[in-house]
Amino acid sequence: AEEVGGGDKDVVKEYFNNSGFQRWKKIYGETDDVNRVQRDIRLGHSKTVENVMGMLKDEGPLTGVTVCDAGCGTGSLSIPLAKEGAIVFASDISAAMVAEAQNKAKEEVAGGVVPKFEVKDLESLEGKYDTVVCLDVLIHYPQNKADGMIAHLASLAEKRLIISFAPKTFYYDLLKRVGELFPGPSKATRAYLHSEADVETALRRVGWKIRKRGLVSTQFYFATLVEAVPA
Ligand code: SAM
Repeated sequence: AEEVGGGDKDVVKEYFNNSGFQRWKKIYGETDDVNRVQRDIRLGHSKTVENVMGMLKDEGPLTGVTVCDAGCGTGSLSIPLAKEGAIVFASDISAAMVAEAQNKAKEEVAGGVVPKFEVKDLESLEGKYDTVVCLDVLIHYPQNKADGMIAHLASLAEKRLIISFAPKTFYYDLLKRVGELFPGPSKATRAYLHSEADVETALRRVGWKIRKRGLVSTQFYFATLVEAVPA
């Protein structure tokens, strides 16, 4: 019952359309009505976005580059990508998240190509993109499901794949704090942490290798960032 693709996926979707939407919209937003923990997570997440933008721009200008932002949330990455001229295909399992992202993009992307947003789960994504990015979504996938998800995302990417996830190294530390992020298991979603070695193995199995790694951490936010390319 805890598996993504089974009951868990419906729970995740329901969460991100309701209480999770309210919570994360605030964290990813700019308003002052956040508590200390939420403010810290906002900071950590913004560092992840900044790092990813850096990784992406390192390889040259983004004008005309096609990017799939898988599990786009409120568009925290999609919008700056569009401002840099990337052709962005953004999707999320939550219709509420997608609607919020769409509104923000309409306001914020002046002149550039507004991302194409869709309500879609990762599993049903198709097509080919220069780059596929999936930030802070793996936390909803147990490792056995994460392997398949990573393989699927790699199959959509022609040049590179960027993934961020909560590292297992901080397991106990994080577990203590996870209660702040997600309501109890009876009410909403569990959080799954991943070891970099497991992610690397999943990538290697489908012919990809890690080219860059990074770690973003604040007091309450941890993310390992990997950029992978065909081996
Ligand atoms: N990537 C965004 C960012 O970094 O700003 C959002 C991260 S948020 C913590 C996780 C997002 O993943 C939520 O918007 C949620 O709806 C989405 N999500 C969870 N499971 C998903 C799935 N199976 N397919 C697509 N999106 C999913």
